[in-house]
Amino acid sequence: MSHVVVVGAGIAGLAAAWDLKQAGVDVTVLESEPRPGGVIVTERRDGFVVEGGPDGFLAAEPEIPALSAELGIAERIVRQEARGSSRWTGTAFEPLEEGGAAALLGIETRTADLAAGFCTLADGMGELVTSLAERLVGAQHAAPLLQLGQPVTGIGIAGAGWRVAVTGGSTLEPDALVLALPAYAAGPWLKQIGLQGSDKLDEVFYAPSTTVSLAYRADQIGHDLEGSGFVVGAQHAAPLRACTYASSKFAGRAPQGHVLLRAFLAPSRDDSATIAHTQLAAILEIRGEPLWSRVFHWSRALPRYPERYALHLTALRERFARMAPVALAGAGYDGAGVSACVRSGREAARVVLGRLGG
Ligand SMILES: Cc1cc2nc3c(=O)[nH]c(=O)nc-3n(C[C@H](O)[C@H](O)[C@H](O)COP(=O)(O)OP(=O)(O)OC[C@H]3O[C@@H](n4cnc5c(N)ncnc54)[C@H](O)[C@@H]3O)c2cc1C
Repeated sequence: MSHVVVVGAGIAGLAAAWDLKQAGVDVTVLESEPRPGGVIVTERRDGFVVEGGPDGFLAAEPEIPALSAELGIAERIVRQEARGSSRWTGTAFEPLEEGGAAALLGIETRTADLAAGFCTLADGMGELVTSLAERLVGAQHAAPLLQLGQPVTGIGIAGAGWRVAVTGGSTLEPDALVLALPAYAAGPWLKQIGLQGSDKLDEVFYAPSTTVSLAYRADQIGHDLEGSGFVVGAQHAAPLRACTYASSKFAGRAPQGHVLLRAFLAPSRDDSATIAHTQLAAILEIRGEPLWSRVFHWSRALPRYPERYALHLTALRERFARMAPVALAGAGYDGAGVSACVRSGREAARVVLGRLGG
């Protein structure tokens, strides 16, 4: 039986592993962190559901519904409730046309796709990760399929296959490799094995992101929360860039009589929770302090690709065809949205299986 190592247990790596496992090959997923999911993190606190990374996916995209159906959790998908967003001018809210908030935040998506709104899972985006991880682990018989806390330190060529070095000195020698890692992590390894054109991966710029989730009692909020949130006009230097009314956007995000807000901040040296609360309190007429807040700092969050990146990737992948089976997957290559990452992971599995003759 062929052995495939998937490096990285973000959603792209998990989706790749799912298809590889279904195809009957022996799979090992190596993940450096103690939990799977990468930037998908959902936490529960006092009856609130808090998202650290993505809070949903575009309803117009079929990848997550299709995968959820395979996992038996299709009925767990829920649609966005509150729709529409506004722009804070500094003194008042102005309604934004559909897609306007995404455009102001620099997110590239087709307006037609945005018009259909967003979906998530009843317990948050982490439910997709948990379900995938459980099904993968449950499917395994011998060595653990999903190995957490196992940072890969490098890759090399070993005969007709690969050598994968893991922190602590152990090595694996699989027949095929899926690198489901950010571009800044995969690039140096590909350079090290002499793959021409892999420099381009260093040019993918990952913008930092800080989000602060804040819990309040509903009676603390003086202003009506209309729609799913607001963005702050680009002319303002304020650290607050946008706010999602998380408990209006999706059902079940806060207990009865409570509100969950999620602030998106520009990088700042000051205390993010204090900045978020102070700015939101002024705009939304909030009385008193939040019940609690939760900050997520992502030093490298959403990737921005260099010019002509797709062409470079095509050339790189053509060179892969002359090596032992290997594929790249994830946000660093084929689109940053969760749906695109699922598509990319599944495509990587398809390519590797094709090379293995499976
Ligand atoms: C704050 C934020 C909000 C977002 N909001 C949305 C949204 O609302 N909707 C949407 O569609 N998308 C959103 N996105 C984008 C989307 O969530 C991500 O692009 C996607 O989840 C990335 O998945 P991935 O598997 O490619 O990468 P990652 O999640 O980065 O996974 C890569 C994995 O590789 C592991 N790894 C790295 N180096 C090694 C190593 N040496 N050895 C072993 N493992 C390693 C990492 O620990 C990680 O688990 C958001 C992203 C962020 C950060």
